Amino acid sequence: MSKIRILSDALASQVAAGEVVERPAAVIRELVENSLDAGASHVTVEVQRGGTALMRITDDGCGMDREDALLCMERHATSKIRTKEDLAAIATFGFRGEALPSIASVSRFRLATREKEALSGTEIEITGGKLANVKDHGGNQGTIIEVRSLFFNVPARRKFLRTEATEYSHIENQFRTHAIANPKVTFTLIRDGGVAYHLPGAQNVLERIRGLAGDELANRLIEVERLEAQGIAVWGYIGGPGLSRSSRQQQLTFLNGRPIESQPINYGLREGFHTSLMKGQYPVTFLFLEMDAEAFDINVHPAKKEVRFHDGFSIRDVVARAVKRALENATKLPEGLQNSGPRATQPALQLRTESSAPAPTQQAFILPAVPLRIPSAAPAARLPEPAPIQSKLEPDRVSPSPAPKHEEPVQEKAAPPAKPQMPTFRIIGILQRLYVLMESTEGLVLMDQHAAHERVNFEKIRAAMETGGVPSQRLLMPLMLQTSPRDADILKRNLDTLTKLGIEAEPFGPNTFKIEALPTFLKVDDPLAWLDQVIEELQSLSSKSSALRLGEDMIVMSACRHSVKANDKLSIPEVQALLEDLFACEMPYCCPHGRPTLIQMSMGELERKFGRAAP
Ligand code: ADP
Ligand code: MG
Repeated sequence: MSKIRILSDALASQVAAGEVVERPAAVIRELVENSLDAGASHVTVEVQRGGTALMRITDDGCGMDREDALLCMERHATSKIRTKEDLAAIATFGFRGEALPSIASVSRFRLATREKEALSGTEIEITGGKLANVKDHGGNQGTIIEVRSLFFNVPARRKFLRTEATEYSHIENQFRTHAIANPKVTFTLIRDGGVAYHLPGAQNVLERIRGLAGDELANRLIEVERLEAQGIAVWGYIGGPGLSRSSRQQQLTFLNGRPIESQPINYGLREGFHTSLMKGQYPVTFLFLEMDAEAFDINVHPAKKEVRFHDGFSIRDVVARAVKRALENATKLPEGLQNSGPRATQPALQLRTESSAPAPTQQAFILPAVPLRIPSAAPAARLPEPAPIQSKLEPDRVSPSPAPKHEEPVQEKAAPPAKPQMPTFRIIGILQRLYVLMESTEGLVLMDQHAAHERVNFEKIRAAMETGGVPSQRLLMPLMLQTSPRDADILKRNLDTLTKLGIEAEPFGPNTFKIEALPTFLKVDDPLAWLDQVIEELQSLSSKSSALRLGEDMIVMSACRHSVKANDKLSIPEVQALLEDLFACEMPYCCPHGRPTLIQMSMGELERKFGRAAP
């Protein structure tokens, strides 16, 4: 029976029109989506020459009868929308009935399809939008779509295609994104005759990521437990401390199972990661959002990638809280080494940071060009082995999560967060007065003592602010801070925070502030220059109020940077105390600027380095 209707004109005009086919990867996106919509459990994508010569998608979905096969090639023909009500209800998927005719109008197109139990199927050929042939098709149940010579009849568009390698890499990204969103489906990608990926149906998203990117990445991910609030559910996996990228390439977000990009989600991620992410770095995320179709509009973007939310602030808030909670519960030590680059046989998600800046996790291991000489200043090598220290923390200490502004019954379904339990470490010694070397059950652990101090101080100062207990010191002579009108405004908005931090500042004339007291812990030579710097940092925040009080954190972070001196010589008991303080923190694994505090190099990693085990 026929499933497809032509949309009425009125309805059709409600559906945003736009260019569907921008490049080969867009064709792949549309065709794979159609296969998934048709209920396929196996989807095979074949491409030649970056998709410019051939793209063939084969699925075992429901297929189409002849009437539908012909109808689906007409503009605004879709089986997925019938009435205005449907349009609202399934707007989630951005159905427009436009993809097939658009693609067929700019390629040599072949569709072969057969419904289950149908005696025979249908094959249709269309060349540059003109129906060329219709005949019987004897293949399996499901649909095969072939797109050859993309843009053969639109030379102007063909000129805009990039190199085959670039177009292929877009296709590959598209393919991986679909594969992650649909773990149960078996996906195969064949590039110029060779199998690039074969991903058998997986149990869940994490297994799919493992199949796609390998253990190395999968093992470094932490789970974002499902958080439901304000009609939004968020769950998924994110890179733990020390895992980040210099581009958004691996920041994948999905809405109701479809890949999307959205500003509020990006803001939410930034807030949630906040002090766990270095400046200029982006997190690795596989984050899934679920909500009613009424809550957003997906058709704003012609390529359906960008979504407009009716309540962006709630999205941002829930995403931020889910991520923050996951990071606070993270118990994984950042790993010391990563195999650089994808393996030859298994194309992996790019594991390297693409920036010229060395990946944080690698820095520590660039250092060991240190000659085998124990600095006399480091007494550690001669110390007797201290007994392993254990955390004194109650495992159920829960950090208060910031309350959302618009309080609604918030049901957080996940178990209450457990604090990261302090692992057992044996202190071996201190390298160059900076890195504490320790043995763990897994291998070698290094602690950046400076970064650890900063984290500890950061959380102590923040806690002291909450109880009004930041000690401050009156200045003998008040300082006068001159600002621009815009800076004065920023400062005025943050005066409360400054007061809580022990900085007594009051407006003194239009663009001048009188500073009468400073926190005792602050170790800066020029407090006015420091305040200028704080104002500058505050400028980078969006003005909208934030549930997670970013401005406040920013000021504390800045103060904190000036609260510890580098390269203080620590005794072993001091190191032990620092470790314990560190593990009492909400986020022990990174300093407030997102750099790792601890790095682990597993025995396996060491064995590979020394050639005892195969890489
Ligand atoms: P839309 O997906 O927005 O409905 P398309 O142009 O992508 O529009 O597809 C038009 C229609 O063709 C779909 O609604 C569906 O009924 C049918 N169709 C397309 N691809 C397939 C497929 N692989 N298997 C079964 N039906 C398909
Ligand atoms: Mg479609």
